[in-house]
Amino acid sequence: MDNLFIYEQGRSVPKEAQKPFNNGRFSGTDINPMWRIKKLTELFGPAGIGWYYEVTSERSEEHGDVVIAVVDLNLYIKLGGEWSKPIYGTGGNVILRKGQVSDEGYKMALTDALSVACKALGIGADVYFSADKTKYMAVEEPKEAKPKVEAHNPCSDCGGEILTYFGEDGKPKATAAQIINRTVAAYGRPLCWDCATKAKLRAAAESA
Ligand SMILES: [Zn+2]
Repeated sequence: MDNLFIYEQGRSVPKEAQKPFNNGRFSGTDINPMWRIKKLTELFGPAGIGWYYEVTSERSEEHGDVVIAVVDLNLYIKLGGEWSKPIYGTGGNVILRKGQVSDEGYKMALTDALSVACKALGIGADVYFSADKTKYMAVEEPKEAKPKVEAHNPCSDCGGEILTYFGEDGKPKATAAQIINRTVAAYGRPLCWDCATKAKLRAAAESA
C-alpha cells in the first residue's frame, strides 16, 4: 500500500464539516467530530471492528482559576487484518472558569484527543495546515505595531534613499520631504543631499 494512502484519503475536509472559530486568542477552523468518525469508518470499517480507541487517562489540571479536563487515548486501526500499534492522542478542554462549570468538558477533551490521533494519520490535514497558519498570524498580529517602514524615496541620481539631513551639530537640517521638494523644484528630480550638493556645484560650474 502507498504510504500516503490514508493521508491522501483523509486530508481534505468538506466545507460543511468545517466551522471557523475565533476565541480571542486563536482563530482557526474546527472540524466537525462526526465527520472524523465517518472518515475513520469509511477508511477502516465500523467502530470496534475496523478501529477503536482506549482512554488511558482522564484527569483535571488546575491553571490558576481555570480547571481543564485532560484526556489521553490510544487509537487503533485495522489494516490488512492487522491491528496497528497505539496512535496516541491527548486533548484538553476547560471544565471550570470563573466559577462557570462546563459539563461537556471531558467529552470535548475526548473529541480533542481523538482529533490529535486522527491528525497523526493525516485525517483533516488540509485544515490543520491552514489553521496553523491562521493561528500563527493571529498570534503575531495584535502585539506591538511594527516600526513604520519609511516611505521609499530613492535619489534619482544615485538610487540611494533620500534621508533627513543632519548638520554637524547632530540636529536635523532638512527632512527627506523638504529635500525632495527643493531638489525637484531646483533640478527637476528628487536627489539625496550628496547628489544635490554635486548638482549644485555642477550647475555653478556650468554657469561660470
Ligand atoms: Zn543621491
